[in-house]
Amino acid sequence: MNAVSLHVEHGRETFHSVHVEAAQRVANQARRAGVERLAHISGIGSDAGSSSLYIRKRGEGELAVRAAFADAILIRPAVMFGPDDSFLTPILKLLGRLPIYPMFGRGLTRLQPTYVEDVAEAIVRALDRKDAHAITFEFGGPRAYSYEQLLRVIVRSHLGLRISNFAPKKPSNGVCLTFRAFYRLVTSRPVLSRMQAKSTWTLGPGVRVTAVECDGDRWVISAAAREIGFCPGCGARSRRRHSRYSRCLQDLPAQGAVVALKVLMTRWRCLNRLCARKTFSDQLPGVAARHARRTLRVGRLLQLFAHGAGGKPCERLINRLGMPASDDTLLRQLKRGSSRGINDVRALGIDDWSWRKGESYGTVMVDLERREVIDVLPGRSTEETADWLRQHPNVEVVSRDRCGLYAQGIRHGAPQARQVADRVSLNSILEY
Ligand SMILES: [Zn+2]
Repeated sequence: MNAVSLHVEHGRETFHSVHVEAAQRVANQARRAGVERLAHISGIGSDAGSSSLYIRKRGEGELAVRAAFADAILIRPAVMFGPDDSFLTPILKLLGRLPIYPMFGRGLTRLQPTYVEDVAEAIVRALDRKDAHAITFEFGGPRAYSYEQLLRVIVRSHLGLRISNFAPKKPSNGVCLTFRAFYRLVTSRPVLSRMQAKSTWTLGPGVRVTAVECDGDRWVISAAAREIGFCPGCGARSRRRHSRYSRCLQDLPAQGAVVALKVLMTRWRCLNRLCARKTFSDQLPGVAARHARRTLRVGRLLQLFAHGAGGKPCERLINRLGMPASDDTLLRQLKRGSSRGINDVRALGIDDWSWRKGESYGTVMVDLERREVIDVLPGRSTEETADWLRQHPNVEVVSRDRCGLYAQGIRHGAPQARQVADRVSLNSILEY
């Protein structure tokens, strides 16, 4: 487990040296030493395309680790608190001393603080899962707060004070700078808002829009991907370009029209003589999966529509909405979890799914922990349900609709499992 991180740069300890180079070295060494599992602790919102140096280096570090150790588990905790932490402790110290407290980011920065021991336990559980290869876990606390809300909670619970107004609504830059410098001086910590800030609207991390044109009845957005150059074969970084090519992706529609992305990508030569790959291409992490023809956000929407509306109706609906896809594509999208061979599902959701509304029904199986549809059965019957469950003996809890159509199938196929009637709508589970 690599848990080394840096919050303030000084001297040779830079975000790049610690979060990218060192992380990659650890991953390379781990692979050479035959280590079976590697967990890399990163941070929530890590993004190689961010304008914030800290977030960008975290994102590049993740890419470097995955390039060197493809199965590495990435762990992205939100800001953590606990005894002697670098988050609440300095805030408390300052709140106790100062009559006025700076409201960084005008108090609007969103934070989802999580308790350090919860994160530690979640990491242990994540490492225990046999299927946890190349997974990214994001750990946040149960509630998101704005920075201002958080300060109010802290002041009330720890100092027993109530505060009506914290700061002028629009502090001038001068005031802000003074506060920033002052905060650093007292705590020698960086200001929170930079670390937690989310990048502005783009097509996705590391993708820069270069042109938008209307081509007949569709929009064509030309963009260029950030050059990354980490070889997936050996993990080494290359600086030698092989070629550039254009990758086409369908994105969310605009003004009811289809949006086609043309992203300029870079192919590199691997300079490592020992590596089997001669050339390799950059990927678009957070934007599209390898070889995919749609962006991740379109894929997620198609999955939701397909689950909610059923096969044929969904095809008509999404064509009208400007995200054309065939019903084969929809079914593939819906079952995208099943292609990864997930067999150890523990918490299962069962729901019916219409191939054609009112005519023929199938059954969708949803892994409630991973929030993924893992299978679609052609019919809706007790036997089919029972058979499927017999092949998945690890199921502990099954959530089903109230009508009880599946209740018998569950009793037969998974007598060990606890049945829960409609605790959560499956659609809301898939809406992430
Ligand atoms: Zn290589």
